[in-house]
Amino acid sequence: MAEDIAPIKLFVPSFEVDAALIEIKECLEVGWTGAGFKTDLVEKVWKENFGYLNSLFLNSASAALDIALAGLKKLNSWKDGDEILTTPLTFVSTNHAILRANLSPVFCDIDSTLCLDPISVKSRITPKTKALVYVGIGGNLGNFKEIQEICINSGIKLIVDGAHMAGSNSSHYANGKEVDALIHSFQAVKNLPSADAGMLSTPLEELHAYAKKASWLGINLNTFERNQNNRGYKWEYDVEDLGYKYNGNSIMASIVLAQIPFLEKGNERRREIISQYVSELPNNEKITHINRFGEYKTSGHLMQIFVKKGLRNSLMDFLAENKIDTGVHYRLNTHYPMYSYAFGTTPVAELIEKEVISLPLHLKLSDRDVTRVCEKIKEFCGTDVA
Ligand SMILES: *Cc1c(COP(=O)(O)O)cnc(C)c1O
Repeated sequence: MAEDIAPIKLFVPSFEVDAALIEIKECLEVGWTGAGFKTDLVEKVWKENFGYLNSLFLNSASAALDIALAGLKKLNSWKDGDEILTTPLTFVSTNHAILRANLSPVFCDIDSTLCLDPISVKSRITPKTKALVYVGIGGNLGNFKEIQEICINSGIKLIVDGAHMAGSNSSHYANGKEVDALIHSFQAVKNLPSADAGMLSTPLEELHAYAKKASWLGINLNTFERNQNNRGYKWEYDVEDLGYKYNGNSIMASIVLAQIPFLEKGNERRREIISQYVSELPNNEKITHINRFGEYKTSGHLMQIFVKKGLRNSLMDFLAENKIDTGVHYRLNTHYPMYSYAFGTTPVAELIEKEVISLPLHLKLSDRDVTRVCEKIKEFCGTDVA
């Protein structure tokens, strides 16, 4: 065992500390830490950067998912129990949002990209299917283009849970206009970290208007706008919907604003690390790489591989003994009681979840660290550790 070697962590967030502090200081000096001010600015910068038509800064991606589902349901008069196609291999936020909107998650299978399999998606469309939630695992787009075509041809809405996808791009996913709702996360260990925040971008003006109100308890005008316009009676607002308290605040927006200019450079480094892993860890009978397609840029949020022959957990133990942290993204949601009705319906996902492992990937990782992880994995593969 390597006593004197520094541990290698799975995720370590990197922050633009000085730039963030300047933005935060401004909030404190002006005396505006809530919604408005920096949240307006971060929405504007986000839209301009990626060409989105509308973006709304919220307190998390989970909040954005809730609002997207509830909003699309209301605006399109979906009924309770209407069906939403989704993946079991995701963080529970994705599927909780469907249930919380009183809609029914219908789980589709995944393929070797770890994202939804278009064939499975097609087979699960019924007259009650209203939307599909697509998760770009690790920032990858998998077979997104085909899925998008299926949604368009079947007249179902497409919601992208892009919690891993800040900066992911491709020609068929250029600027969010091709999807009905696109959600990003700025949670502490995502590839564009704050502490907790998220963004909901949509080309649908009605959904954006609903989301603005719904994120602020259903109140029809936010406090900042009322203050700014110096409108007479500030308390005489209307409450039009049973909304949520999901708005983002100016302190979180400050951190995000400081990070945005460095997103692409950071993602480039992430892709470089992934390439190094792939070249130093050739496929063998125990380790295989997931399918990443060359036609788009991934954000490089995760570095996942498949560990075959039932060796995944013992590899994780072996790496832990060598002070190398690993993770699993994700345990299938169909193991949890509220989704267990669907366990057994996604056989590929059920196989893959036992094989997939996430290796360290963050901006504090050196080339030597990556080599050390690869060496240890090769050492493990060479011996038949049980
Ligand atoms: C992290 C994550 C979320 C939730 O993001 P928060 O900003 O923490 O609410 C949703 N979906 C996926 C796939 C995630 O990884």
